[in-house]
Amino acid sequence: MFIDMDGFKQVNDALGHSQGDKLLVLLAERLKMVVRHDFADQIEGADTNVVVARFGGDEFVIFVANSGSGNAAQKLANRILRILADPFQLGSKSVQIGASIGVAFAPDHGDDFRELIRKADVAMYQAKTLGKNRCEFYREALLEAAREAEREENEVREAMARGELELYFQPLLDARTMEICSAEALLRWNHPKRGVLSPCDFFPAIKRSNLTAAIDEWVINSAVSKIAELERAGIPLMIAVNVSPNRLETLEFPSLIRSVIGRWKCSPQLLQIEATEDAAVSNPQVNLRNLGKLTDLGVSIAIDDFGTGYSNLANLIMLPVSRLKIDRSLLKDIEHRPEAYVLVQTIISLANSLGFHSVAEGVETERQMQILQSMGCDVLQGFLFSRPITFEQLKLLHHSFPGRPGRPEFIKNKLTPANRRVAA
Ligand code: C2E
Ligand code: CA
Ligand code: CA
Repeated sequence: MFIDMDGFKQVNDALGHSQGDKLLVLLAERLKMVVRHDFADQIEGADTNVVVARFGGDEFVIFVANSGSGNAAQKLANRILRILADPFQLGSKSVQIGASIGVAFAPDHGDDFRELIRKADVAMYQAKTLGKNRCEFYREALLEAAREAEREENEVREAMARGELELYFQPLLDARTMEICSAEALLRWNHPKRGVLSPCDFFPAIKRSNLTAAIDEWVINSAVSKIAELERAGIPLMIAVNVSPNRLETLEFPSLIRSVIGRWKCSPQLLQIEATEDAAVSNPQVNLRNLGKLTDLGVSIAIDDFGTGYSNLANLIMLPVSRLKIDRSLLKDIEHRPEAYVLVQTIISLANSLGFHSVAEGVETERQMQILQSMGCDVLQGFLFSRPITFEQLKLLHHSFPGRPGRPEFIKNKLTPANRRVAA
């Protein structure tokens, strides 16, 4: 039985590693308690047939010789899930944690330790995928899926080597002047058979691998090279890049950014890093340090997908952030549902009063645009104005960048003072 805690990292991040260590001890005690209850006779006998072990990090393994039926395993798992659901007391804080459990049986699924652990781990991963805090038994199909993910990972690795990755760019518009004020770099894979793929199509498969680090580096390097190219051509356009959450937290991240900027010799002010709400706000100490170093370099920070996570607003206001990007799921209903309207309005006011620029992403209709403008939203992004486009197409739009006369065809929505009043 392979047990991986759900939400352990959050406790570690929020309360610090010494409290995390304490929690591990408490977890181990509860696991031993369950096992002792279920297998009292075996444990107290001369030959110990049950082993509870910490496997590493927040992973535990329970090995039961002669467990009997799958039924017994399910019962044990249920008891573990139940006992872990009770809050743990850490100093003055009470924390709640869950677990994802995978089970494999000998001899059906393997007859040595290594094989059983691997298969129980595969089953555990399935439990995580299905929504955590549950138990799954190993099945052949799961291993097939794990192998498929491995294949996909290799494919992405090779695609990278073959130069099939490309950055597209989606313009962001100043909501008042309707001029392009920056662009967001979005990763695409020009797949020889499947066409142009978005990260949503291939990130899930590589999420668990170290490939994401290599992709992040590739993305940052190419985005900064494009910034430098535009800057040399007299087009200083700020470009934002997305960075995977765990990358942002690494100690080396700020020096990576510094070295890439040095390599391409661009103005750091033209680079913006988009950090998802969860990544940025969940680990305040680390992020204060890293984001602080980035802003010292001159790079700015945007909080992405704002409104979908569980932000601790006290943490948020400490961070050196220049933009809050309101998640597009919140925008969807602002035309029809008063609650959605109030929510977005409130986030924009919050951003404004904290000194952040508010950005609305996923603007698809004229009406949404008008509402957002009337709410005082600073920046707009969405299919209404432009889909993500290639770098060559982006360059063709340069005449619509700040201070340049003329406007590209696709921006038909420039507001006059008159219809701004109508929108209000
Ligand atoms: P995101 O950062 O929230 O990026 C915005 C996504 O919304 C993009 O999808 C964009 O095409 C889409 N979008 C923009 N306007 C509209 C609209 O009006 N309507 C609708 N329905 N969608 C709109 P995309 O490019 O498929 O990217 C999906 C996600 O993948 C991104 O979400 C981001 O989290 C991730 N991603 C993209 N590029 C990178 C990258 O280079 N590195 C990393 N780590 N993640 C990336
Ligand atoms: Ca983004
Ligand atoms: Ca987003």
